[in-house]
Amino acid sequence: MSLPAHISLILDLTPVPWAALSRASPPLALRSFLAQALVFLHAHLALRNENSVSVFGALPGRSVGLYPPVSRGSRDRGAEEGADENTFHVFQQVDEGLMRRVEEEVAGLEEVEEDAPPALVGALTKSLCYINRLANPPPPLNPTDAPPPAPHARIVLFSVSPDASVAYIPFMNCIFSAQKLKVPIDVCKIDDSEVIFLHQASDLTGGAFVHVDQREALLQYLSMCFLSETETRKTLAVPTQDKVDFRAACFCHKEIVDIGYVCSVCLSIFCKPVAQCSTCHTNFSPDTLVRFGGVGMNGHGASNGTTA
Ligand SMILES: [Zn+2]
Ligand SMILES: [Zn+2]
Repeated sequence: MSLPAHISLILDLTPVPWAALSRASPPLALRSFLAQALVFLHAHLALRNENSVSVFGALPGRSVGLYPPVSRGSRDRGAEEGADENTFHVFQQVDEGLMRRVEEEVAGLEEVEEDAPPALVGALTKSLCYINRLANPPPPLNPTDAPPPAPHARIVLFSVSPDASVAYIPFMNCIFSAQKLKVPIDVCKIDDSEVIFLHQASDLTGGAFVHVDQREALLQYLSMCFLSETETRKTLAVPTQDKVDFRAACFCHKEIVDIGYVCSVCLSIFCKPVAQCSTCHTNFSPDTLVRFGGVGMNGHGASNGTTA
């Protein structure tokens, strides 16, 4: 028998792009987006009684858990006990809990915070920790009971902001953790900004990447592209991108580079040949520095130059 599914939603709740989207043509206000995201979650919960959801928000400079509520969510069985009751109750719980928390968090934002980039890495980390806990449930109270099955989990990330290259390293670490946990990261790109790292996240974890061209049809995108669970996807053509931009950000200035220089010991990336790796402190041979045109720098050269 197939396992239940868990969807972890990550919402980019940065106010500035949402304000722009509500004035764009066609408009998509945050409230209307949330209503459609809730219908999507209802559809997922209605597919199977044991299915569960969690929702995390990326606000400017900080991330928050939005659902399940902390008091209940602190126990693993919280979400499952809710799902065992009748489905209408669960719908209501998700709707009320999520809308209230989003309103609280957005209303609590200070004006100074609003320009900071969204804390996507924090939200992704919280989501992966939650999924990891679902994958390793505590032993049942009665030892003769079978432990609850670990669900097939996936992350659906809604993005309305451009990449923050400052967060490149922790973001890549999140992708590697998701790969290890076998959690696909689906990306739903709502605005038109460029997101190289999210391309890589969905490509490396086997998730779907959808740019919403027609915002008035958001719900249709959600139900057609993101509702199928990981097992079903083997027989479906999941929307991905034709071309993935694999450029990386240098570790020294956190800027996206076309050609980078990679430390042969720890694989750190630099935009220029450096005498010493700032991550692992390896000193490079002077010959290599000369070979890569780094003449004029103090000391030694970089190791393997490569296109990143
Ligand atoms: Zn650099
Ligand atoms: Zn190194």
